Amino acid sequence: DRMTPRLESVEERDNIWPRQNSLSLKEWDIPYDDLNLGAMIGKGRFGTVYRGNWHGDVAVKLLKEDFLDDEHAIEAFKLEVAIFKNTRHENLVLFMGACMKPPRLAIVTSMCKGNTLYTHIHLRRDKFNLNKTTLIAQQIAQGMGYLHRRGIVHKDLKSKNIFLENEKVIITDFGLFSVTKLVYDNNLGLGIPYGWLCYLACELIRNLKPCRPTNEDLPFTKSSDTYAFGTIWYELLCGEFPFKSQPPESVIWQVGRGMKQSLANLQASRDVKDILMMCWSFQADDRPDFNQLFTTLERLPKKRLARSPSHPIQLSRSAES
Ligand code: ATP
Repeated sequence: DRMTPRLESVEERDNIWPRQNSLSLKEWDIPYDDLNLGAMIGKGRFGTVYRGNWHGDVAVKLLKEDFLDDEHAIEAFKLEVAIFKNTRHENLVLFMGACMKPPRLAIVTSMCKGNTLYTHIHLRRDKFNLNKTTLIAQQIAQGMGYLHRRGIVHKDLKSKNIFLENEKVIITDFGLFSVTKLVYDNNLGLGIPYGWLCYLACELIRNLKPCRPTNEDLPFTKSSDTYAFGTIWYELLCGEFPFKSQPPESVIWQVGRGMKQSLANLQASRDVKDILMMCWSFQADDRPDFNQLFTTLERLPKKRLARSPSHPIQLSRSAES
């Protein structure tokens, strides 16, 4: 029977994948010495990203050494690599391989050109008009819809992890959070790095604990990814984070009780605001999935002329120019 090829249903294939993953992981192993490491691009919570060359330009994310003595972390890392290697979508960064021999654990991906949405929105203060905002959001929804269809929860969807290459959205850093969260920075008293809190869904916020034991998982789900998408939609529209300049304790208290950033100052249509409200729903089940979001975004009116110069999304110092 094994010799007879037959078409499996997608569900069947999904069930078969995990077994294939562990067997074929070796194909994706890149010996560390084969990598030509160049300049450092930046440091994140979990590791350092370098420019590199491996059959062309690549980005190499070298994971922090903190968890190398942790057997579980290394196993978790291999599992993440196994998941990563099955992703092929034009809005997702291209996974090329990994260095899987301790003490060198690294992920090799294609090099993203352009800037992250974070840089566009918060550092360059670029303003996108509603058309462009919608196109960006649609591409995020498409990449995320694909990930979720593959059963992968991003867990760290945020503007820093989304690149804009010309007009194209590239999502990075998916799935890695489970491994890398083991190296928790103590940037704040609560161990919560800045710029992370406002992406956390109500149920995640309610599960935060001061001095969280590192092996305890937060209940990330597809719906918590949707919540994070809501925050990105807000950043795109308003040019700032929700709950801007409020202390983390206050954000935690509000979000944990189901309160949302007020939209009183956002002069956008009902449809545009509804997307925020749906994504930020207190009940995870009330949040739309990414296919629904894509359709909703597609239905937004395409052209909207500026009426008032005070409207943040109509300031139209477009990032295109
Ligand atoms: P955090 O650790 O909170 O997620 P971060 O996203 O800045 O913060 P990293 O993901 O480690 O941290 O990235 C470090 C730097 O490398 C960032 O400036 C990021 O934009 C850049 N970077 C990451 N992946 C790539 C890539 N594939 N191509 C180009 N630059 C990248």
